[in-house]
Amino acid sequence: MKKLFIKTYGCQMNVYDSDRMSDALAASGYEATTEINDADLVVLNTCHIREKAAEKVYSELGRLRILRQSQEAKGKKMMIGIAGCVAQAEGEEIMRRAPVVDLVFGPQSYHKLPELVGRAANEKVVETDFPAEDKFEHLPKARKETTIARGLTSFLTVQEGCDKFCSFCVVPYTRGAEVSRPVAQVVAEAQNLVDGGVKEITLLGQNVNAYHGLDEQGNSTGLAELIYRLADIKGLERLRYTTSHPRDMDDALIEAHRDLDMLMPYLHLPVQAGSDKILKAMNRQHTAKEYMELIERIRAARPDLALSGDFIVGFPGETEEDFEATLQLVKDVHYAAAYSFKYSTRPGTPGAEMDNQVPEEVKYERLQRLQELLNAQQKEFNQSCVGKTFPILFEKKGRDEGQIVGRSPYLQPVQVEADLSLIGTIQPVSIYDTGKFSLFGKIVT
Ligand code: SAM
Ligand code: SF4
Repeated sequence: MKKLFIKTYGCQMNVYDSDRMSDALAASGYEATTEINDADLVVLNTCHIREKAAEKVYSELGRLRILRQSQEAKGKKMMIGIAGCVAQAEGEEIMRRAPVVDLVFGPQSYHKLPELVGRAANEKVVETDFPAEDKFEHLPKARKETTIARGLTSFLTVQEGCDKFCSFCVVPYTRGAEVSRPVAQVVAEAQNLVDGGVKEITLLGQNVNAYHGLDEQGNSTGLAELIYRLADIKGLERLRYTTSHPRDMDDALIEAHRDLDMLMPYLHLPVQAGSDKILKAMNRQHTAKEYMELIERIRAARPDLALSGDFIVGFPGETEEDFEATLQLVKDVHYAAAYSFKYSTRPGTPGAEMDNQVPEEVKYERLQRLQELLNAQQKEFNQSCVGKTFPILFEKKGRDEGQIVGRSPYLQPVQVEADLSLIGTIQPVSIYDTGKFSLFGKIVT
């Protein structure tokens, strides 16, 4: 067996894609390794969402060049491939900047990997087309033993690409137009995961609630309907989905949160900013008031639902007053967790062309203030869990001897003193304390 080492950057969709690359290459005799020195093929599955993400890849390539030289000195060959959004965006440019790379391939070519790797043994290969065929039709099913080894929770990509064209975002260019997978294909993949022991599936998409795959009768199907189809799979205990756009939160999806217990009451619903002027400049297609009203409707349907979000500070033209509107929105919503970023110009996006860029030090200072508030809210949310009982899906051994750890409905890790035999089960757990990253609880008997 040859050895494959994949380093994954960026979002959950890349985590999912790395597993698909592994499955595709298993057919040509590659076995995954976590030890880079053993690898015959190293793949960097890259992210292009912010400047730093791409720069990290180039510095990793500098390190890989040295590793490859030392491997060659020992008579060992090591092939290097670049996948993901940097590959898609930069293509040939990567070969120019980093001649150590043998193979560059975009997210739509993963099913062709065995062939591409074969070619790359003799020549430099760049494959960043959007092929006509559906890659999902051609990707092999994960083997049962591989699924078991990957654990009890899994990602499942149901749609890719995005048609929203937020003016800061590179996704519509790197991942292409929005495409939804057919319902039957998603259900079959979910069934395969459950047959391999998976209990919790997170449906993924750059804009997952825009899902509109065709069902067996050729009818367009929304995310809520897809969720109901998946909920029928015996043995599947929990469903989640991410990332959603506020504009695509339809009534059916809100009702699914009300009616379907296995749909976890935790929703990632990015707003990015709290000022209408900035939301408009970002082309988010909604106002702050519309976002707040949407949240009220979701919370009315499912009162125990908690929210997470994404924020960008320092988008071109953002004044102190605009930024304060973001702080106010955060105070009004009360997030359980959130990701926040300094705006970074992405070549080719409308934001990069705007002439009212915000100075770096202003972005930095605003990010500090926003993160202070978001961290305080996360702490407050975790503390509000003390004294409550949640169903916890136990996934693995805990940090200390005699402990096992699982996830709450809100994705918090929960440490409990209990027997290892409970791993793989869901138990009611009463939370008695919070740590920096985890909650601590006792099984309710
Ligand atoms: N589709 C999701 C949505 O509509 O919110 C987001 C997808 S993007 C992969 C994840 C997050 O990265 C975004 O929500 C945004 O906060 C952040 N992001 C995207 N482009 C950015 C940029 N140019 N600068 C800073 N942050 C950015
Ligand atoms: Fe990017 Fe999300 Fe906007 Fe699509 S909806 S352009 S993925 S931020």
